[in-house]
Amino acid sequence: MTRTIESDLTTPRTFGHHVAGRSLTGPPLQRFAPATGVLVAEYADGSADDVDAAVRAAYATFGSTRWQRTSAMARAELLDNLAALVAEHQKKLAWLDAQEVGKPYRFALGDLQQGVAHVKQAAAIARTLRGESFTGISPGYSVIADRRPVGVAGLILPWNFPALIALQKLPYALAAGCAVVIKPSEFTSSSALELARLVDAAGFPPGLVNVVTGTGPVVGSALVEHPLVRYVSFTGSTATGRSVLKAAADSVTRVGVELGGKTANVVLADADLEAAAEGVVFGAFANQGESCVASSRLLVDRRVAKEVVAAVIKRVGQLKVGLPDDPHSDLGALIHPHHVEKVVRLVDAGIAAGGELLHGGGAPGEEHLAAGAFYQPTVVGAVDAESPLFQEEVFGPVLSVTTFDDADEAIALANNTPYGLAHSLWTRDVERAFSLSNRLEAGTVWVNTCSDGSPAIPFGGIKGSGFGREAGPEGFNEFTEYRTVQFRTERRQN
Ligand code: NAD
Repeated sequence: MTRTIESDLTTPRTFGHHVAGRSLTGPPLQRFAPATGVLVAEYADGSADDVDAAVRAAYATFGSTRWQRTSAMARAELLDNLAALVAEHQKKLAWLDAQEVGKPYRFALGDLQQGVAHVKQAAAIARTLRGESFTGISPGYSVIADRRPVGVAGLILPWNFPALIALQKLPYALAAGCAVVIKPSEFTSSSALELARLVDAAGFPPGLVNVVTGTGPVVGSALVEHPLVRYVSFTGSTATGRSVLKAAADSVTRVGVELGGKTANVVLADADLEAAAEGVVFGAFANQGESCVASSRLLVDRRVAKEVVAAVIKRVGQLKVGLPDDPHSDLGALIHPHHVEKVVRLVDAGIAAGGELLHGGGAPGEEHLAAGAFYQPTVVGAVDAESPLFQEEVFGPVLSVTTFDDADEAIALANNTPYGLAHSLWTRDVERAFSLSNRLEAGTVWVNTCSDGSPAIPFGGIKGSGFGREAGPEGFNEFTEYRTVQFRTERRQN
């Protein structure tokens, strides 16, 4: 096997929390690489006191004269510096994510490139910030309205795209003028800790961006409950999102929740079937299916089902499961062995409900993968719409196939889950594409594509997939509150 990645990383690496520009130690929390079982990192296992120290550092820095006098234009300059630094260190950051997530390095590198684009997008928003004015209400009365930073924002991250999701939130928070405490996943904390160092190196004041590592119920909860945190941007599962929402209710903290998904790919009979098969396979198996927008359900017109499924299985058969540093790997390991058990349970449930195993199932046979949490790309046909495999987020490399007889049935099937993050529609008929896309319940509807996007385009869900938007101007707005200043220059006329 060819290894092309040169890594200067000595493992296992050790990190403390990143608070006020310094490393704060704590009891060790070990991370074993899911692809090899080898110890790769020790982070500090944080406490509520660590969170308090980080939030207070953020609050003090936010309120400092230096930061309060830093204009949006100056914040844009600092974000330019950050974009350059992340680009300079992208290989190292990608390698940290590849090791800790288990994903192929080449895809982790792609995540970092997208992350740099978010930093640039946030800089552009800061640079062109404008407010509004109300000048026609009455004589001698003028109002300016603009967006002010919320203050201290808590960013809670999942493990599937550690650096990318950090960069989908952090630069917009900084562009808005917020201070930040990041709580990365306990499985994948290294890249967030490295990013915090780069933020300081870019010229932002130490203490503006802090990272506290540790478990969700301890560190995450303390962050949501902290009275000085004014906004929490949470990305994670719907179950955890519910706990965050409940905790935020007590402290009256505004939250944005980016939660799970169950993307359907609806393939109509008139679609470009090869393009659809290619899109479905990419959408379902990219990042080992550990993606909130993973195309985990293929809904296909019965008349073309045989042809589409054959094209899908041919492509799935060409996917290579391998180690993160193998440049030919298409899929890596899953996040941990317990997660593999969950995937197995859902595949078994789909088969028990009448589904038919069409491809894969189980671990790959290769000896060099035996120590890792691997699962083959798997396709299950004839999946019943009420089965757990159809309804629940698998978050693994599994595609379920269900057929429909007409477009109404297809839309009903697509919408028949608690989630509403993204769906894809494949058809050559523009009129149908317009009318049917309006009936799909999701924050994003792709037509003749899937898993697409750009830092300029707001992203987020509806229904059980949460609310709030990330990226673009809407992502920026999440970190702000609308404020009016009202000037009366003549006595009020009664
Ligand atoms: P998770 O919900 O288990 O954990 C997410 C984060 O929340 C982690 O940092 C965790 O430590 C923390 N946490 C756990 N309990 C907490 C609590 N009580 N209070 C506060 N924080 C707590 O999710 P995960 O397994 O890390 O990530 C996978 C999930 O994330 C999937 O459901 C996936 O769909 C979702 N996700 C959604 C998007 C999106 O944009 N909608 C993007 C990526 C991932």
